[in-house]
Amino acid sequence: MASSGLLVEKTEEEWRTILSPEQFRVLRQKGTEKPGTGEYNKFFEDGIFSCVGCKTPLYKSTTKFVVGCGWPAFFEGLPGAINRSPDPDGRRTEITCAACDGHLGHVYKGEGYGTPTDERHCVNSVSINFNPEKA
Ligand SMILES: [Zn+2]
Repeated sequence: MASSGLLVEKTEEEWRTILSPEQFRVLRQKGTEKPGTGEYNKFFEDGIFSCVGCKTPLYKSTTKFVVGCGWPAFFEGLPGAINRSPDPDGRRTEITCAACDGHLGHVYKGEGYGTPTDERHCVNSVSINFNPEKA
């Protein structure tokens, strides 16, 4: 086990060979995809969304909701799958994959969307992969 505590740890060069340039920019360099361009922005099929870097399941489709902010929104991650840390600007809270530390997006609280958690996980489509629910 690596000293960082991560389940999946790779060098920058290893990540570059696994990820597309856009995936690398978002996941490893904390980039943000352009709003409204993501593959899962308006996508509502039943299944599980996993980390594109390490395939760890992160979100169930049942926690996805419509916001119209331009990125996929979830009100809850799978237990223990997502880490939170304050952004350097002190205002936003970054969310990352707990297994590989890949950047997912940001989480916002108390916006009043009427979801069970009153949270919005604003996630880059490029950071996640959809897997249809097995019947
Ligand atoms: Zn991951």
